[in-house]
Amino acid sequence: MEDAFRFADEFGPIRIIHIYRPSLALKAIVVVDNIACGAAIGGIRVAPDVSIEECFRLARAMTWKNAAAGLPHGGGKSVIFADPRMAAAAKEELIREFANAIRDTSDYIPGPDMGTDERCMAWVKEEAGRAVGLPRVIGGIPLDEIGATGFGLAACVDVAREFIGLDLQGARVAVQGFGAVGKHAARFLAAKGAVLVAASDTRGTLADASGLDVERLIALKQAGQSLRDHDKGAKLSTDAILDIDCDIWIPAARPDVVRADNVSRLRTRLMPQGANIPCTLEAERALNARGVLVVPDFIANAGGVICAAMEYRGGTQRAAFDYIDEKVRANTRAVLQESRRDNALPRAAALGLAKRRVLSAMQLRRWH
Ligand code: NAD
Repeated sequence: MEDAFRFADEFGPIRIIHIYRPSLALKAIVVVDNIACGAAIGGIRVAPDVSIEECFRLARAMTWKNAAAGLPHGGGKSVIFADPRMAAAAKEELIREFANAIRDTSDYIPGPDMGTDERCMAWVKEEAGRAVGLPRVIGGIPLDEIGATGFGLAACVDVAREFIGLDLQGARVAVQGFGAVGKHAARFLAAKGAVLVAASDTRGTLADASGLDVERLIALKQAGQSLRDHDKGAKLSTDAILDIDCDIWIPAARPDVVRADNVSRLRTRLMPQGANIPCTLEAERALNARGVLVVPDFIANAGGVICAAMEYRGGTQRAAFDYIDEKVRANTRAVLQESRRDNALPRAAALGLAKRRVLSAMQLRRWH
């Protein structure tokens, strides 16, 4: 009995659901963490090796992210234990059955995550009656295609720069991971006058202190090529992105890329976090001590989930962009002001803000 409640604290989780269909080899876990602000939004991950604890931590992270973004949504997450590269027909059957099983769990709204995409969300919507991250033809706003998270990152930078007296005109940007988040962040920052001086993907780093053409690099990636295939700039190792002299360094690839052993290599003034948990806490503290301003992931990269919440309400793409701009700017400012005032890490200030919002929503509930 105790075991089933090992994650329970003052915030949740309100429900952990175990789904098992032996004939389909369907094994899944849903964690609905906290719904004080509204129905939980969180992705469905298809992966063979995620523990229940990890699923709980991911759900909790969504509780903070959604509350920090000021959305009327709590946090949740689900994991289907399977190989995401399984045959398409088998995957469809598995996901449809999973969605059927959560049809009545109406306080959890699924979205895409690792191993699922907009097509999977269409199946979930048909079976369960709700999902976000849908294909455009059935009311979705394709957030990666339009660059919702990259747009939010640029808005975040526009506010954060004031705190360090950085002019965006000519500001030098380096992007680790030129994918959905990184390339759009570079595009929106270039539109504000910043200059992309380096970008990396899994095959290497491309660097040019005189500036890279963002649109050409996006076209290159769209054609299935690597940044290294670009005809200009220095071709360096993947890791070399860490050493680039810049003003804004954007992690937009993997977790834990900046750690105690490599943090001293970074030469930047600002780090808006596009990727989730790109720095260890130790590295984040070291950057703060050196005066590098870090805007934590769940404040800086909230554009995607804000877009999903707008989609859920039937909002337009234009309205989603307006909402992202307003929310990310306001939250970045609030977090950085509080962090300055209390001489605290921006992450601690952000967590404080999210917790206060969840706690005050909990006071409005019958049971809290
Ligand atoms: P993506 O797969 O579109 O892009 C990731 C890019 O990173 C790819 O170009 C890949 O080549 C590159 N990459 C991978 N490992 C690398 C490495 N070691 N060095 C340099 N480049 C590397 O993924 P994405 O949707 O852009 O997501 C990136 C990160 O942002 C993830 O951590 C994700 O969880 C987070 N995130 C994404 C969104 C979103 O809206 N897509 C929202 C919030 C957070």
